[in-house]
This record gives sequence, structure tokens and C-alpha cells, in this order.
Amino acid sequence: MNIVGPEGKMIPALPDLFVWNEDQVQLMSAHCQSCDTYFFPAFHEQHRPGCSRQGVQKVLLNKNGILKSYTIQHYMPPLPFKTEGNITPYIIGLVEFPEGIQIAGIVKECPFHALKIGLSMEVVTFTLYRNEQGQEVVTWAFQPTDPIRDK
Ligand SMILES: [Zn+2]
Repeated sequence: MNIVGPEGKMIPALPDLFVWNEDQVQLMSAHCQSCDTYFFPAFHEQHRPGCSRQGVQKVLLNKNGILKSYTIQHYMPPLPFKTEGNITPYIIGLVEFPEGIQIAGIVKECPFHALKIGLSMEVVTFTLYRNEQGQEVVTWAFQPTDPIRDK
């Protein structure tokens, strides 16, 4: 598997959670072949009871998923989450990937009125702040796969 490392002016806020290139951002998961469970983060293994835990492999998830639930937050995320400015109110979405795993993240480029369960979401980056080297420190986020035109 070819893991694309951080390039250019963007660096991840935390390592080993996602990879990106010009075309796509993908979350890093792990899959247990014994119990067919996906994990996120990849190192956060919660196997089914009785699983032999054999054959756990790192995998990249599909870049698209479906919005399964969401909430609008009116308070800043707690530390260690750090941003340059106040991002409230913002959306936290729970996205289900074709692999079957559901992962939460900030939803951007989506006005609140356009939020809908079942909306197709793609994984993108979200710039938290710029560090002293001028690099954008990013985390993963979701945005509608088809841009919402009615803003
Ligand atoms: Zn397992």
C-alpha cells in the first residue's frame, strides 16, 4: 500500500489518521480479517468478543460516505483541538463508509438548512491554524460530495 505522506504546506495535526494527495483525502483504518471489523483510528482496536485478532491490516477507507447523523455545536471543541479563530457554530457529522464503519468529523461547505441524513459526503481537510513555519495544520473533515449551490 502506498501511503501518501503530508506534502507541501500542509501538515496533519495528528499523525496516522488520514492521507491526502491532489485528488482525495482518505482516512486510515485497520481491518481485522478474523472478525471483519474496521477500526478508526487504525490503532484503536475493538474486536468482536472471542475474536482471535489475527490478520489485522492497515487500510485506507473509501473517500466517500453517507451522512448518518449530525449535530450543530455552539461551543468550541475542547483542547487539544486548536483553531485560529472561533469556528462556532459548526456541524459535527457522523459519516458511514462503504466498509461499514461510522466516523465523526466536522462538516464544512454545507449550510445548516441543506443538512440531510443520506447526503453523500467526501473526506476533505480542514485547516485549523498556521504554525510558525507558515504551514497549514489540518485535520480531516467532511463536505457534500455534490457542492451545495444554494448558500
Ligand atoms: Zn478481530
